[in-house]
Amino acid sequence: MRNYFGFALVAAVVFVTGCSAEESTDVSPPSEAETQAESSQDEETQAASEVVVCDPSVAHPKGAFEFTPKLDDSLPVKWRDEFGVILANLQEVAPISSCLHDFTDYETGENSVKSPMSIYAWSNKVSNPWPEEKPGMEGTSISGNGSDTWMILEMRSDDLAGGNIFQYSVIAHEYWHVYQRGAWMADSPPQGSGWPVWMWEGGAGVVQNLYTAEHYGSSDFDNNLSPVIATALSNPSDFERYDRDGGAAQGDSDMNGTTQTFMVLALAKELQTTLGLTEAEAFALALNPPAKPDSETAFLDVFGISLEDFYKSLAQYPAVESGEDWFEGTVVKASAVMPSKDLTLTAIFQPPR
Ligand SMILES: [Zn+2]
Repeated sequence: MRNYFGFALVAAVVFVTGCSAEESTDVSPPSEAETQAESSQDEETQAASEVVVCDPSVAHPKGAFEFTPKLDDSLPVKWRDEFGVILANLQEVAPISSCLHDFTDYETGENSVKSPMSIYAWSNKVSNPWPEEKPGMEGTSISGNGSDTWMILEMRSDDLAGGNIFQYSVIAHEYWHVYQRGAWMADSPPQGSGWPVWMWEGGAGVVQNLYTAEHYGSSDFDNNLSPVIATALSNPSDFERYDRDGGAAQGDSDMNGTTQTFMVLALAKELQTTLGLTEAEAFALALNPPAKPDSETAFLDVFGISLEDFYKSLAQYPAVESGEDWFEGTVVKASAVMPSKDLTLTAIFQPPR
């Protein structure tokens, strides 16, 4: 019943704190522990109901999906200005599917993703500026309570002061999780939530880096995502679940999410070879596949390679000494999967027709 995993997504209010300078921590796909219980409980009801597929190309009665940013004065004016530019750019190049209007929370039965979606952003030099409206906010995430969903951007003052590119890439990262929900989980019942965690997090990792590479000339691709810790990749299926659910995603071995980002880049590389796609086409499919089919072989159906064979293919990337004086150990030589310098989100999502 993997296709029902999405129902409990926003039922659980989970706030996760970022714990390293580059890490973006958040809540994207559902936690399996929560959702497995949900799925067995309501199996009969769900099995009897028809899947209603939302077509994003058809105008939605509620119109486009929008955001309401709330940017606290603790943030530098420059950041607030850039935030507006980044959000507008992303909405232009990859608008959120209006099908997200129909996202239904499994437990409450409510449309739990409201448009406009609130975005709360502030500098961590002050405490949560909205303690009454949204108590307990911290870190960066998409969070919810079963009747509403919102974006949290608690920006680290060190990043803001030091000009760290993460202050901008995290906006694209969290935006992408909203995009993924619209694309993968808005059908009723949602069919796409079963994609593994590494596709959610790695996809957001790829988009955040493509965005800053294009607009700021800087990204984690510049140093080949180093370090992609080699031992972590010995069991790629560990990245199908978050660390908190017994997996490896966003755990100690997944430094700043780089392992998952590497996996999505490797998938895009694989698709160019196996399906003969152009680079832009391969990224479009890797980042924005259709909602996961209700099939035992969903990965194979969509990507033309089985999940197991894809995991095996990762062994082709050799482990080498890190070369970074601050990280000892072997890392995956990831240079072979880095995108072309001139690859843009526009080329991927708005290809010339
Ligand atoms: Zn994320």
